[in-house]
Amino acid sequence: MSRILVFVATDGGRIRRASLEVLSQARIQAAAAGMNVDALIVSDSPAAHIEGVAAFGPDRILTIEHPVFTDHRNQPLLAALAAAIRETGPRAVLMASTEATKDVLGALAVRLGAAAIPDVASFKISSDSVTALRPVMAAKQLARTSSASDCVLVSVRSGSYESVPQAGDPPVEALQFAYDDSGPSAVLREILTAGGDAVDLNEARVVVAAGRGVKDAEGKALVQELADLFGGAIGASRAVVELGLFPATTQIGQTGKVVSPELYFAVGISGAIQHVAGMANSRVIVAINKDADAPIFQYATYGLVGDLYKVLPPLIAGLKAAQAAG
Ligand SMILES: Cc1cc2nc3c(=O)[nH]c(=O)nc-3n(C[C@H](O)[C@H](O)[C@H](O)COP(=O)(O)OP(=O)(O)OC[C@H]3O[C@@H](n4cnc5c(N)ncnc54)[C@H](O)[C@@H]3O)c2cc1C
Repeated sequence: MSRILVFVATDGGRIRRASLEVLSQARIQAAAAGMNVDALIVSDSPAAHIEGVAAFGPDRILTIEHPVFTDHRNQPLLAALAAAIRETGPRAVLMASTEATKDVLGALAVRLGAAAIPDVASFKISSDSVTALRPVMAAKQLARTSSASDCVLVSVRSGSYESVPQAGDPPVEALQFAYDDSGPSAVLREILTAGGDAVDLNEARVVVAAGRGVKDAEGKALVQELADLFGGAIGASRAVVELGLFPATTQIGQTGKVVSPELYFAVGISGAIQHVAGMANSRVIVAINKDADAPIFQYATYGLVGDLYKVLPPLIAGLKAAQAAG
């Protein structure tokens, strides 16, 4: 029976939400196409993640365990993915589109002589081909791409699918993996993080993004308060990053991060296409802008026209009251 291999990325002891979305969708499509789904965990301690992956119903869990995976490095991950794919011969290999998989996808395709369709918003696997829709031209267009290659690698944007648990008790198989770290390779010297308790933008279910309408500490405090209400992450437009109001790590858009949370607040953001390229895939978009003609309203599910300094305090108070009422 044909197989689909899903690489389940882990980070800091957690399974990445986007990987579970991909696994859920793989399971649904495999059931329809009469295929099996293998979930692959590559980690220094895969056992910690088996229960979490089993809860999303793969037919089998494959593990690759090695101390080299304590921190992410491209070369070992590339070697592990290539080894697992060679061992299992899947029809399609699916993974969440993360910084790590963006780094290795092309090299993996070359190494295996496989086709690669990166950063897709949706995919369809059949017995003879894989077809995907990819946002292109700053997400203004969707390109339909398909491959009939024997093995097709697909990376999927986070938020493209729901993560749907399905209890199961799949067999777990450890794959042999030897890694020679003695050759010339990149050396990990230091990991720099945004620090603090900041919520990871890629993983956040709610993102509150600030634009040039947020002018000062008072505006930043309102954005932070709104984000805190949801346990959400703070994002920013390039304009306010360039002004030094928000760190570069928060920039969303064509030259920043691509996010697709369940709920995206655009606060004082005009909706330039370069910004929209990074958030258009969000499930629900709430735009707050004093200009009723701002382009962001074309993308918004809900729009609030008004001065954010006047709109946000009652909105936050209302949300707090609603939360308190359960
Ligand atoms: C090659 C290239 C790459 C780029 N990459 C990115 C990118 O990755 N991400 C990105 O964001 N941009 C990017 N840009 C920049 C982009 O074109 C816009 O300039 C930028 O997104 C504008 O940011 P903004 O919406 O915050 O500011 P503005 O366009 O100045 O909009 C500010 C908005 O705030 C509203 N406003 C003002 N005061 C208030 C208030 N008190 N209450 C409510 N609303 C208010 C205004 O009505 C306005 O709509 C890129 C540009 C280029 C050329």
